[in-house]
Amino acid sequence: MIQLDNYRALVAECSVHHAQLVSVSKDKSVADIQALYNTGQRVFGENRVQELTAKATQLPNDIQWHLIGHLQTNKVKLVAPFIAMIQSIDSLRLLEEVDKRAAENNRVIDCLLQVHIATEETKFGLSDGELSAMLSSASFQALRNVRICGLMGIASLTDNQDQVRAEFHSLKNLFESTRKHYFGDVTHFSQLSMGMSSDYRIALEEGSTMVRVGSLIFGSR
Ligand SMILES: *Cc1c(COP(=O)(O)O)cnc(C)c1O
Repeated sequence: MIQLDNYRALVAECSVHHAQLVSVSKDKSVADIQALYNTGQRVFGENRVQELTAKATQLPNDIQWHLIGHLQTNKVKLVAPFIAMIQSIDSLRLLEEVDKRAAENNRVIDCLLQVHIATEETKFGLSDGELSAMLSSASFQALRNVRICGLMGIASLTDNQDQVRAEFHSLKNLFESTRKHYFGDVTHFSQLSMGMSSDYRIALEEGSTMVRVGSLIFGSR
């Protein structure tokens, strides 16, 4: 069941902050996605390749699908023909595979680099050091069919709002310094994807340009 009031409030808040809303539809039915689409939402996020491709074939083709979950290199070819953005790039090897498959499809694929900001060890993402090593490498600079549009991060799962805020704040700082250092004259490095149902407000206050919200819109899983 779509929580229409929550959705409308969220759209309004995002618009105040000039941020984009990615509605996270993992575990949700094609009918629920279609219903939200019918209210005007076009950007949807999924975290599993198989679920994403199965849904994409059954839904309107002007949906912009974002992959937000860990991506295995052997699955890149399945999403390369249609994916609007891959938010979960966490290695150079993965980015090279995306570049290769994008080229095969005559596409340039928009990507975000996922940075590890949470204290939990289970969350995927690059460390600050891995991020700069990747951006400085010759192999990175040789890539032609990926466009790096910014950074993505997931805060710790905690009730401690100060901690969440501090994590978002440091990601924002990393985003600014990365842009300055590696992307100075490249204007498409402009997206900072942070914030989910429980912490999107803090994320917007800390400079998020893209929130990924699921349960608040679709009801809890
Ligand atoms: C599930 C998920 C979300 C959305 O989470 P909600 O708490 O349902 O809003 C956002 N980002 C990622 C990477 C996710 O896997």
